[in-house]
Amino acid sequence: MKAAYISHPSSQRHEMGEGHPECPDRVAAIADRLLMRGVLDVMDQFEAPRATLEQIGRAHDMRYLLELQAMAPGAGYVAVDPDTAMNPHTFDAALHAAGALVMAAELVLQRDYKRVFCNVRPPGHHAVRGAASGFCFFNNAAVGIRHALDELGLERVALVDFDVHHGNGSEDIFAGDERVLMVSTFQTRLYPFNGDEPMGPNLCNVPLKPYSDGDALRAAVSERWIPALQSFSPQMVFVSAGFDAHREDDMSQLMWRDEDYAWVTREIVAFTDDWCQGRVVSALEGGYHLGALARSAELHVRALIGLD
Ligand SMILES: [Zn+2]
Repeated sequence: MKAAYISHPSSQRHEMGEGHPECPDRVAAIADRLLMRGVLDVMDQFEAPRATLEQIGRAHDMRYLLELQAMAPGAGYVAVDPDTAMNPHTFDAALHAAGALVMAAELVLQRDYKRVFCNVRPPGHHAVRGAASGFCFFNNAAVGIRHALDELGLERVALVDFDVHHGNGSEDIFAGDERVLMVSTFQTRLYPFNGDEPMGPNLCNVPLKPYSDGDALRAAVSERWIPALQSFSPQMVFVSAGFDAHREDDMSQLMWRDEDYAWVTREIVAFTDDWCQGRVVSALEGGYHLGALARSAELHVRALIGLD
């Protein structure tokens, strides 16, 4: 089975100031762990190209793209929301992060890769059609999904999001798009403080209570996600892979363990093996405790590529 790993050096040049949790070390921690544990030995490695503005424009308003481009500072930082800032490398990093998902879709649909992991930042799932927010600038997964649909001929694509925060940007972009089913779990009443009531019939949002553990995840997946995915019958699955529901990550109060990330990934992979030729593209979203992030991402990628 062909598996690919996509990243880009620009993912480590974008940073939002001293002490910001969404930091360059996140992708480095994952890359180091995957290298050290031999996982990268069995994956073909690629550098992410820049997405074109046309490709990003399938998920975002062109006016927003041009405004963001114009805001990019020549030095220092410029704030785009209270938690989110640009440095001189941010716009380029965001283009490459979105480009990773475009490339991933092409590797799967044109070059017979089955599983792709994109270790890129900035993350994407809080970026709505017309604005950056919550550490996100472009909705990377949404750009990849729209590329698969509009350019590569697919008719139905599913997005799975297990980040601890609700993927409000993906919901904003895909609500009402009948070609896309989004299934997700997230901690209720946590940033961005919505999602309990889905914005459309193509969204399966499963809010989880604070301090719930992997048992609540397992129930959500078995009772909600899998039936919704089966009735939608996607041709390919994208994963917004956030690792901030981990019990060691103090961004949330969920209590997941390393092994829960392996479990949920095995469920996703088993579904795609049965329903859509095993096609899965996964991309990094959140995860802020570097140790828990690296371990959980390793288990996620191992399960993704069938290495466990
Ligand atoms: Zn998150």
